[in-house]
Amino acid sequence: MNFLAKLVGSFAQPAAENPTVAMMEAAFRHHGMDWRYINCEVPPQWLGDAVRGAWAMGWVGFNCSLPHKVAVIDHLVGLGESARIMRAVNCAVRQEDGFRGENTDGKGFLQSLRERIDPAGKTMLLFGAGGAARAIAVESALAGVKAIVVVNRTPERGHELVRLVNEHTPAAARFVPWEGIFGVPAGVDIVVNATSIGLYPNVDERFPVDFSACGPQTIVADVIPNPPRTRFLRMAAERGCPTLDGLGMLVNQGVISIRLWSGVSVDPGVMRARLEEIFSAG
Ligand code: NDP
Repeated sequence: MNFLAKLVGSFAQPAAENPTVAMMEAAFRHHGMDWRYINCEVPPQWLGDAVRGAWAMGWVGFNCSLPHKVAVIDHLVGLGESARIMRAVNCAVRQEDGFRGENTDGKGFLQSLRERIDPAGKTMLLFGAGGAARAIAVESALAGVKAIVVVNRTPERGHELVRLVNEHTPAAARFVPWEGIFGVPAGVDIVVNATSIGLYPNVDERFPVDFSACGPQTIVADVIPNPPRTRFLRMAAERGCPTLDGLGMLVNQGVISIRLWSGVSVDPGVMRARLEEIFSAG
């Protein structure tokens, strides 16, 4: 049996009800893989010991979430390209001499996006400048998105993300402050919400955006997985924009993680169905 773990700083739900655990284990069951995915709460001061313990116990890898995504880098033997640029790791993969760090969040988003549009040469408007936004901006830029406008409430974080993209990728990024209702201009190819606005239980939180200049030529995506049909996506759909929900990103980052650990390409449909079951029950 292979063990994988998600090293988390804290978690609110018992492992059996944790959506990520349920989603990963649904894939293992479906494909007859004798694997387990477990949730471990690791206090920051024990992170190095936890990684060494995972290595000593022969784990093939682990995911990690906040607050460990940056600090874990000190305990790894190498980094994939996008993880190196964004300095954040959510997936560690066993190598000969330790764990290599990858970031599958942005890759998961891109996989969903590619099902609708080839990102090469396209323009992107990105709300947010936190961890999810960094992952999406860097991975989209590496995939050929030519221009990224970052819109964020806190200017410092927005400028920092713009600097990161401009210094380390071929894309051209610029920052626009988010003051009042932001009108999305016509002609943008891809619009992404990478903020936490609308995340359960704040499902009715107002999203200060105006899609009235947009139409079917603009793809609108949300990172929020719960609820899948956010207010942001409903507003875009009312203007005829095709939409992509955050469940796709969550499922695809899991599919990519499992592929990195095992070489097996699991069925995303099984994982999505399990998540839908959990979120509709919540
Ligand atoms: P961070 O805390 O790093 O960033 C949060 C971002 O949201 C910041 O840009 C913040 O702006 C902005 N924000 C939050 N509240 C508001 C508000 N009321 N008005 C304007 N801006 C706001 O979080 P993450 O980037 O890690 O996560 C963001 C979301 O992405 C979460 O909801 C998470 O669930 C989701 N996510 C989904 C994944 C998936 O697979 N589907 C994967 C990873 C994350 P400011 O800088 O001004 O504070």
